Formats: sequence, structure tokens, C-alpha cells
Amino acid sequence: MPGKKILVVEDEPSIAETLVHVLNEQGFEAIRVATILEAREALKINVFSAIVLDVGLPDGNGFDFCKELRKTNETPVLFLTARSDEVDKIVGLEIGADDYVTKPFSPREVSARLKAIIKRVQEPIPVNQDIHFKVDEEKKRITYKGKLVETRPIEYEILKLLVKRPGRVFSREEIIEFCWPDEPNMDSNRTVDTHIKTIRKNIGAIDPNTDPKSILKTSSKVGFYLSE
Ligand code: CA
Repeated sequence: MPGKKILVVEDEPSIAETLVHVLNEQGFEAIRVATILEAREALKINVFSAIVLDVGLPDGNGFDFCKELRKTNETPVLFLTARSDEVDKIVGLEIGADDYVTKPFSPREVSARLKAIIKRVQEPIPVNQDIHFKVDEEKKRITYKGKLVETRPIEYEILKLLVKRPGRVFSREEIIEFCWPDEPNMDSNRTVDTHIKTIRKNIGAIDPNTDPKSILKTSSKVGFYLSE
């Protein structure tokens, strides 16, 4: 993955140096910092494709930093852990980690995991859609061309589903299954159609020059999809 910037936050010089060396050899551009303070600074001036984060750092712990980061930043995080109770925390708590490796690890394994994470993060939203629609999962809101699309909670879920997979047609049944699985017996066709109509109206309200039906398309008799 040439040119992908990776932030390595690790205070142990021998581990950090080996890791940075191997990542650079693999085509990444790895930058190393040794403290949370330095990591914050690096994140202010760079956009990283992923962060490799040690748990025990001189000025704090990686878990708290990851939680802090997640309030404003969705860069994938791969933890370096030394103990199994740390793994329990990563898996059990919702701190926003994407993956982890346990020490001692092979730097090549870290590189492979990073490639997998970056690929996973990049796949769901093609670049062109990302410019128009942006999903803020924490605040449960979606913007179109930088402006908020008015949505009720259920409409947010529907639009998010479509935005994440442009071009994929979702049947009314699938939309219900994904967006409100607890009520499978409702009058699906009419309910979904009503919500789609509202979403279209609210997208149209943002930009009068676009036809919302050309963005949120109907696939005749099958369902709905977002144009690619
Ligand atoms: Ca450490």
C-alpha cells in the first residue's frame, strides 16, 4: 500500500524501530511517536490511514487515548498488547479498536493486519459518494453536500444502509430486516415507501438542482438503491 501513512505510538525503542523499519519496507510511510502527547500533535498535522497503538505509554494508557480519539476521529486503530487481560478489554469494551496483536509479534503480521483493516475501512464507501454523503454514526446524522439531511431515527437507518453500499439494491423486506428487525409483520411496502419519499424530499430540500429520485433510485418492483 504505497504512501499510506501509519502512526506508530510505542515507547519501547527497539519494538518501535523494528516495526517502523518493516512497515516502510512494505511500502507504508510509518511515523513513530513515543507518547500520547506526541500522538495528539502528529494527528493534528497529518491524516493517517491507521494507527498502531501500544497500551502502556509513559503519559497514559492506549485505551483511554483510543476512546478520546473516537470522539472526533475514525482512523482505524490496531492495538499492540502485552497481556491477555488487555486483550479482554479490547474485545469486551467498546473502546473503538479495530484489531490487535499480542507481544511478542512479528512486524510482518502487523503489516498484514494493517492492510486488512485499511481495505475493510475503504471498501464500504466509494470515494465519490463520500463527498456527497457523510455518515456520523455517533451523532446518528447524515449530511449531503455538507448539509444535514433531516431524518427521523428510522430514516437515518435506511439512508445509512443505502449510503454504505451504493449501487446495491435493497428490497423492502431487506430494508425492514436491517433497519427495524423487531417489527417484521408490519405493512412493509407502504411503510418503506413512505420513509423513502420523506428522505427524498429532504435530500431535495438541500439542493434544488438535483432530482432526489436520481440519487435515491427505485429499482422497479425490487427495491431501492443509491446511485453510484
Ligand atoms: Ca509500552
